[in-house]
Amino acid sequence: MLIAGWLTFDFGPVVLQALSAVSTFYFFFNVPVWCGAQGRGGTCRNNSHGVLMGCHLRQHKWQKIKMIFWSARWARLRQELFQNATTTLASLGGILAVTSGIAAALRRRVVATR
Ligand SMILES: [Zn+2]
Repeated sequence: MLIAGWLTFDFGPVVLQALSAVSTFYFFFNVPVWCGAQGRGGTCRNNSHGVLMGCHLRQHKWQKIKMIFWSARWARLRQELFQNATTTLASLGGILAVTSGIAAALRRRVVATR
């Protein structure tokens, strides 16, 4: 979807930005993955939606959110984001979508100032 947007640039940067936003949202908050939060019983294996959301346990959600704002634990977060093929793909997709969104925003600014 996103790659098609890049290839056929007829869509225009606004549509591309919208696509990027949707992809970002999907990968970070909607794609089905494992929770992966650290609990007393080891790594949590509950289903969760999106790599940045925990499972239904509120404590796990907080654990993820806290990790984002607590740079000392970014290594641990990175480990969780890339723990298996599914989360790695989702994380990479999310990062790609963010990058693409920023690129589209910059491109629009360049076009606008011309
Ligand atoms: Zn969990």
